[in-house]
Amino acid sequence: MSDKTTLIDPLLAQVRIVLVETSHPGNIGAAARAMKTMGLSQLCLVNPKQFPCAEATVRASGADDLLARAHVSETLEQALEGCGMVYGTSARSRSIDWPTFSPWDVAQRVLHGTEDAPAEALRGEVAIVFGRENSGLDNEELELCSARVLLPTNPDFSSLNLASAVQVLAYELSTHSKRGQAEVHNHVDETYDPLATQGELQGFFAALEKYITDIDYFDPAKPKQLIRRLHRLFNRASMSRSEVQILRGIITAANKAIGK
Ligand code: SAH
Repeated sequence: MSDKTTLIDPLLAQVRIVLVETSHPGNIGAAARAMKTMGLSQLCLVNPKQFPCAEATVRASGADDLLARAHVSETLEQALEGCGMVYGTSARSRSIDWPTFSPWDVAQRVLHGTEDAPAEALRGEVAIVFGRENSGLDNEELELCSARVLLPTNPDFSSLNLASAVQVLAYELSTHSKRGQAEVHNHVDETYDPLATQGELQGFFAALEKYITDIDYFDPAKPKQLIRRLHRLFNRASMSRSEVQILRGIITAANKAIGK
């Protein structure tokens, strides 16, 4: 192998690490370093408190190229634009449990797939979202994620430092990657139906919510957990773009039938 870059599995380039409202610039630098050591390259920052920042550059210890290329956005929706699978990392339990995976499972699903589904990185870009140092990800942010990632820890002390959590995920992805195989796919494989993007899913959720409101199945004044349960159901299905189009088509036809 003559060129060092061929030692990195090109599928890792499909993975975005998204940090939401990071307070300490040192953590951004440390996350960039964690990523680069493991062959990840796409860093997205949502509304960071301070960036660019000398402290981030110092803590990156040579991974400043990742900082220079980091994509900075105002909202999580913007950072997820065009992404298929989105994982949200969180150490906290929620009232309705979301599909939850370990870092090992995530790496397996992203790079190798499961018995019934091909590698997610072959079907689109994948995002792994990390929360704020003091309060993690809120419920709305977690709802933009198709699945949740929980790092197994000491039950009495479960919160890792942000950059340490990035390191664990990056390490699992690295160990599952095909190192030394330069000719693996380096883009979305067109033989697979691409996964619906988060934007397409949100569009479908909005159309569905409006429809079930119009037919008086759902009362927005008494929301309960119905909408979250529906989101969870459809997220679990890992729907492709064409499947979402079919469901949108059904809603359009149903709307026509009721004169909406
Ligand atoms: N006090 C915060 C923890 C923030 S730690 C809270 O209550 O959520 C900063 C970030 O690191 C988290 O938002 C999450 O993205 C990641 N993280 C830390 N420990 C984790 C764990 N055990 N499992 C999954 N993600 C974790």
